[in-house]
Amino acid sequence: MVTDATKTEVGSYFIANYPPFSQWSPDALDDVRAALNAPPRDVPLGLYLHIPFCRKRCKFCYFRVYTDKNAHDVEQYVAALSREIELVSKLPVMGGRPFRFLYFGGGTPSFLSGKQLTSLFDRLRANIRWDQAEEVTFECEPGTLSEPKVHTLRELGVTRLSLGIENFSDSILEENGRAHLSSEVYRSWDWIRAAGFPNVNIDLIAGMVGESWDNWRDSIRRTVELAPDSVTIYQMELPFNTVYSKDILGNQFETPVADWPTKRAWVDYAFNELAATGYRVSSAYTMVRQSGRGPAHAAQSSQNTRHVTFSDEGSQTTSFSYRDNLWRGSDLLATGVASFGHVSGVHYQNQPDWPGYIGMLDRGELPLLRGLKPTPHQLLIREMILQLKTGRLDAGYFRQKFGVEILKAWRKEFLAHQADDYLTIAGDHIELTRQGLLRADALLPVFFEPEHQGVRYT
Ligand code: SF4
Repeated sequence: MVTDATKTEVGSYFIANYPPFSQWSPDALDDVRAALNAPPRDVPLGLYLHIPFCRKRCKFCYFRVYTDKNAHDVEQYVAALSREIELVSKLPVMGGRPFRFLYFGGGTPSFLSGKQLTSLFDRLRANIRWDQAEEVTFECEPGTLSEPKVHTLRELGVTRLSLGIENFSDSILEENGRAHLSSEVYRSWDWIRAAGFPNVNIDLIAGMVGESWDNWRDSIRRTVELAPDSVTIYQMELPFNTVYSKDILGNQFETPVADWPTKRAWVDYAFNELAATGYRVSSAYTMVRQSGRGPAHAAQSSQNTRHVTFSDEGSQTTSFSYRDNLWRGSDLLATGVASFGHVSGVHYQNQPDWPGYIGMLDRGELPLLRGLKPTPHQLLIREMILQLKTGRLDAGYFRQKFGVEILKAWRKEFLAHQADDYLTIAGDHIELTRQGLLRADALLPVFFEPEHQGVRYT
């Protein structure tokens, strides 16, 4: 049984990987180097590039970001990142494989000027090609965009533009320390649509400080009006080391974030509204627009809030290659400060601070910090919990890939979630109900090995 602590206390809820990052160590770097220097397994290859600059630090942010760097610093970073790509491109693990997907994340990749972007892409192209990539994602903060920059991104081959709107209320955006205002969203939207990106995603956060039902309804109405290809909604949490968390812990403040049942109700509302206009569930966080289906069909299916209509039931949908490949065990080469990678079944992370990252690249070394070589059983758990976040699991996939009957190995856990009405089981097919989707991350720790139950995640 999953116990839901009602209040949003300081601590991590979202689960991004397994085993937990706190278990990764410099002791495993020999395993990481061995994996990087050996021929690859036959799996898709992706590349993550971390751009760690932001105009302001959001009060809920726990990422490695810099808000005080000037053009000279940015150039130093872009040069270091380009050097890292050069080193990575020569690694045996590349094995001549084309990149299936690229992901520019942050931070704020769109913090770079058009000129800096063109220079970065030129330097990347000196060492790697991504002509065959099915997806190139680029994260943007609305206030950093200009019409020429949006066109530059499209010309540089970005196929999936992800816009961090988070909320449409200026007072909520300001309270939470966001750098942009809603007018900047509307100013950039026409440029984005005119540039013709195949996939435009909007990010929202349910439960920013100051959120209310009236404002949330308004934010969802505005999102529907913009009609993006996908909408990603995270439930606000308070990991350690955010401005809010430090305030709560240091000054004994009461949590300023809405409780979990309220945040789940907000996501539930958003999913229903989006479903009524033709979107389908693509994961516990994402709704994607379905082409070829009208609102009438969608409205009908959205009335049934227990059964969830998923994105590939019936017609063509917007895909998300980065997530779908990564959650099925693909390789992800990580570049940039503090970034996380996974090659040949081995986890690793780069140096987490500026001097360490730049210094190692200046010496011609890969800027590795720590790693972990999961056991085959841990790799199975990793894929199982990550794929469960899509709302569905196919037991046959795990039988074929790992030789394990997951419904037998975790019989008690699956049956407990079923008894709580968080999932259904039909043959090999496991599917989260709407209530399961709304608390997907809380359902995962029961599948962990005993020593990782209750381990701090970061
Ligand atoms: S824009 Fe994103 S990465 Fe930058 S401070 Fe805000 S939450 Fe953090």
